[in-house]
Amino acid sequence: MHTDLVAALDIGGTKIAGALVDGHGRILLHTQRATPAQEDGDTIMRAVEAVLGELTGSPLWSRATALGIGSAGPVDASTGTVSPVNIPGWRDYPLVERVSAATEGLPVELIGDGVAITAAEHWQGAARGHDNALCMVVSTGVGGGLVLGGRLHPGPTGNAGHIGHISVDLDGDLCPCGSRGCVERIASGPNIARRAIEGGWQPGPDGDTSAAAVAAAARAGDSVALASFERAAQALAAGIAATATLVEIDIAVIGGGVGKAGDLLFTPLRAALRDYATLSFVQRLTVAPAQMGTDAGLVGAAAAALSRQSSATTAAGVGG
Ligand SMILES: [Zn+2]
Repeated sequence: MHTDLVAALDIGGTKIAGALVDGHGRILLHTQRATPAQEDGDTIMRAVEAVLGELTGSPLWSRATALGIGSAGPVDASTGTVSPVNIPGWRDYPLVERVSAATEGLPVELIGDGVAITAAEHWQGAARGHDNALCMVVSTGVGGGLVLGGRLHPGPTGNAGHIGHISVDLDGDLCPCGSRGCVERIASGPNIARRAIEGGWQPGPDGDTSAAAVAAAARAGDSVALASFERAAQALAAGIAATATLVEIDIAVIGGGVGKAGDLLFTPLRAALRDYATLSFVQRLTVAPAQMGTDAGLVGAAAAALSRQSSATTAAGVGG
């Protein structure tokens, strides 16, 4: 019996991607649809079913033995439901049940998108070979996931490692999540831009106020733009140091649009880590840019599906 392929879904606020992935992480078939994020739940599900239809219609489909889903969160893997912040039509939506029904009962593994990215970086990317890692996505939001003891650690509901919403500023700004001074409220792309504008930074003639535009200004020597990136780096360092002190990670991998700022982010981040990661057992902690591209969510969802199969667990280096 062939057991070498798994199906993967990557569900976000802008696109729904699907793939058939082999045991080496190679994508053999890829398809995607725009997410009708403002529509009702059943309309969104029909877009998922259209993606699944292209997978099940492939001659390769008969070799698929499990399906992994990485979804925008929060997710609840214990109930198989999702309530993505950016997809209001889905609240406690029974995604696992519906996907299983659309694939004639294929076993389904659900994880949050930050956990999926982590699975991908651990299997194929910058965290490969590291038994204890924190992987992060810093873009519109800040998400993450953990590898502990050589295995993906999704936690009971599939959200463990959500570093964007730990507080690093006790009396800081209110965060949309309800807490204060969250890493995301300081380090996400929109917050880097907001802080630069509040500090007096002005966009160029094109009016671009994105974090990428702030990064360009910082590279040109704009002190307000530089300070905004340094503040973001400081928040990330405090969150990473806290995580390392709690669970002894030896690498933090950072991806997403803000991660692409390169030295502008990583130089102040490494400096701030020396301030916050002080105990002997966290001093060897390293920080590295992510290596996986736009397919990271699919590859990570595939890794989660492979982990259901004992023969593939070792190959994928993950387990649930
Ligand atoms: Zn928050």
